[in-house]
Amino acid sequence: MKVLVIGGGAREHALCRSLSQDPAVSELHCAPGNAGIAQVATVHPVDQLDGTAVTALARQLAADLVVVGPEAPLVAGVADPLRAAGIPVFGPSGEAAQLEGSKAFAKDVMAGAGVPTARSYVCTTAEEAAEALDAFGAPYVVKDDGLAAGKGVVVTADRTAALAHAASCDRVVIEEYLDGPEVSLFAITDGTTVLPLQPAQDFKRALDGDAGPNTGGMGAYSPLPWAPEGLVAEVLETVLQPTVDELRRRGTPFSGLLYAGLALTSRGTRVIEFNARFGDPETQVVLARLRTPLAGVLLAAANGTLADLEPLRWDEGAAVTVVVAAEGYPAAPRSGDVIEGLEKAEAADGTVWVLHAGTRLDEQDRVLSAGGRVLSVTATGGTLAEARDRAYAGVAEIALEGSQHRTDIALKAAQQG
Ligand code: AMP
Repeated sequence: MKVLVIGGGAREHALCRSLSQDPAVSELHCAPGNAGIAQVATVHPVDQLDGTAVTALARQLAADLVVVGPEAPLVAGVADPLRAAGIPVFGPSGEAAQLEGSKAFAKDVMAGAGVPTARSYVCTTAEEAAEALDAFGAPYVVKDDGLAAGKGVVVTADRTAALAHAASCDRVVIEEYLDGPEVSLFAITDGTTVLPLQPAQDFKRALDGDAGPNTGGMGAYSPLPWAPEGLVAEVLETVLQPTVDELRRRGTPFSGLLYAGLALTSRGTRVIEFNARFGDPETQVVLARLRTPLAGVLLAAANGTLADLEPLRWDEGAAVTVVVAAEGYPAAPRSGDVIEGLEKAEAADGTVWVLHAGTRLDEQDRVLSAGGRVLSVTATGGTLAEARDRAYAGVAEIALEGSQHRTDIALKAAQQG
């Protein structure tokens, strides 16, 4: 099987790593990729938002499967011309990707499907926003309706700050505050059958103790020893299957990766948000534990044959990933610095590996930082504590001037189990 992956972050490096280990994959390509992905795939300098160019590349490579990683190309509808050309593609249509591209659309789908989520108002004027804020009270939750690379949500006790965020967006969703631990649950779907993966938790804030600004994610771990038994089955029944059924009923079938961000509140499980693609950095730990070869699973989703697949097999152990970010991330990351220690950070026995997020090669083939989140150091172990120790030992080997990382990824969970 010839596979083309679209994207160039640590999520795509994780996907490429798993695909490169799948014996069914004879050729692996990625566009645009990054310095790390170039070690396991042939990279192509193609604009990931240009559906015509991506389709031309897939044709030229005679790709048997195209996997679209990030939300921006999905919401831009890059999967559509691929499908129209008869190329199997893992990722929803532009219309179905509105589940992530518009929070108001997602709320409407959830209402239609009877999926539990925060009560909310869609607001376009300052008056509407003020009224909605006062209806719910503090803490206030204000979400930009459109894609905002993880920076569109403001949760604050400060009414003035909440109003200011609303004023800075064209259209916002203002909703009730959801208390309780968060879980990320991914499911692979072909538009009818839904196959949940193992749950993970990510760390959104920049600093230890969940302080500092929201980021794209600073680390993740799986499994969740504290999660209630039966959580995955419950979310499949009350969230994932009804959402997939509702989208099919509306004539916008969703195939690809359905990501449910959940809050386990005292009043039950609630959806915080949906994403239309693998989450970063949770993908790094979920795929680290998946034993079933990946390409066949993604192809079955693309071809509508998920119901025929054998149950997925999982590693019983744990995985932890720690993001190494550039100085100044998320506000103003510096880039262009040489990264050293990448090889030393990886373990010869395959238990620690470095996934590249924002990196590029210079003329002398040195790896340079080229983004806010630079690396995602991933490790497996028999327990979360072991995986965590290994990931941090890897991080300690990496030299990148001014870089930052959290020191408490998976700390509490590792102490519990
Ligand atoms: P999102 O981009 O929708 O994942 O939101 C980013 C983060 O904001 C989430 O991971 C939550 O920590 C927080 N958040 C979003 N919606 C709510 C809510 N209704 N109540 C509490 N926290 C929220």
